[in-house]
Amino acid sequence: MMLNSIRSRLTAWHVALLGAILILFSVLLYFFLSKRLHEGIDNSLMVSASVVRKTALLEYSRNPLPGLEFFFDQFLGYSNLNKFYRIYDGSGNVGSRSQGMDASQFPLTQAAYMRAIKGLETYETFMVSENDPLRVITLPVIREDTLINLVQVGTSLVGVNETLKNLRFFLFATIPGVLVLSTLVGRFMARRALQPVAKITQAARQIASGADLSRRIPVPEVQDEIGYLAATFNEMMARLEKSFTQMRQFSSDASHELRTPLTVLKGQSELILRKQREPGEYQEVLSSNLEEINYMSRILDDLFILSKSDEAQVPLEYSQVDLKLIVEEVCKHLEILADEKNIKIIMAYLEIVSLKGDAHRLRQMVSTLLHNSIKYTPENGEIKVTLQDMGEYAYFTIADNGIGIPESDLPLIFNRFYRVDKARSREEGGSGLGLCICKHIVDLHHGKIEVESRLKEGTKFKIRLPKTALQNESNG
Ligand code: ADP
Repeated sequence: MMLNSIRSRLTAWHVALLGAILILFSVLLYFFLSKRLHEGIDNSLMVSASVVRKTALLEYSRNPLPGLEFFFDQFLGYSNLNKFYRIYDGSGNVGSRSQGMDASQFPLTQAAYMRAIKGLETYETFMVSENDPLRVITLPVIREDTLINLVQVGTSLVGVNETLKNLRFFLFATIPGVLVLSTLVGRFMARRALQPVAKITQAARQIASGADLSRRIPVPEVQDEIGYLAATFNEMMARLEKSFTQMRQFSSDASHELRTPLTVLKGQSELILRKQREPGEYQEVLSSNLEEINYMSRILDDLFILSKSDEAQVPLEYSQVDLKLIVEEVCKHLEILADEKNIKIIMAYLEIVSLKGDAHRLRQMVSTLLHNSIKYTPENGEIKVTLQDMGEYAYFTIADNGIGIPESDLPLIFNRFYRVDKARSREEGGSGLGLCICKHIVDLHHGKIEVESRLKEGTKFKIRLPKTALQNESNG
């Protein structure tokens, strides 16, 4: 058996272990059974010999005992038919013996006689002939501290040996059979158990060769280790697919957004270079080109932030942030822009709120929202900013009385590059990424951003940010 597959190794281990257990079990079984059978024989010899000894102690014990054969048959039953006995007198001469078997074939040994004098019984095994062992007990009959008789009872061990031989044969015949059967069953079971792994491998190979990331492998109904492997594999594929889709989306968005300014740059540069121009004309084209370059660099910056967010690796730097201070600073900073359009920024209600977060990102979020309000509010408009401490979270709102957003566009404005009025947004220098970045920042702080808007009436953004430590703080 080649052991280069898990299936073969599993089977080999299983069979080796089973073989070792079976052999150990057989050895122990044989040993204990043999011991028990021999003990049983010895016990039965002792019982028989004790009965004879009692008889020998009767009055007429000195003479050859009459009726012992009859006694054996009547009181000890058929189990004694294969036994035979012999009684010696105290000096070692045969006094009486059974007729049934040839008792002369086993001797009274010197060792047994010496032990009998000391009052001890002796068990011995003699080979009467080949394959015919005889177990004999020699029991002393003692009266008033004197050895008056010796009782010997013997029985053949052929029956016991036969039983043990049969057991040996059975074990030698069945163990290899069981091992062969177990190998076959083990291989079959291992193949069945590992079949889903083979399917996973096949699917993985197909995905690798065809790069079809939408493929999933069937998850077995039973949620075992293989089921978890399949589910984990599918999860990994889903993540990979999402990443690839985002990457593709990212590059297509980026190239699409950069194409327009590049076309403008190219067109203007080609046009101006066609003939000799006045210095003023060059200056005009160059400053227009600079605007396009600035626009592109802004898009690239925003895309860079978003690409990092997609990979969930925005390096957040957590600290205790004074949100009120941030809001005030941003409002002050953007007041110049608002003043140009005579827009009033009203800090209607600002409470002191301190929360755990990334000050730089939060500033970016407030700035983007306020900048949007200024961009999309006509002259003489009004922007109201509020900040409240709601206990568990900070509640920040920014409301303008600007152009508003059509209801149908509301669910889409947080999408990447989504603009209600593309021309207007472009005119205002917008990249269509601002709200998308805001949402990412809020999400990273485990907060919530909502928008309410009515066309030509105004727009209100509402943000909730939890104040306590965040789950993914360790990312920062
Ligand atoms: P942009 O760079 O175009 O401003 P944003 O992602 O910041 O991109 O916003 C997406 C779109 O949502 C904008 O193009 C605009 O149409 C709309 N929008 C955002 N804020 C406001 C607002 N305060 N009032 C009206 N429309 C808004």
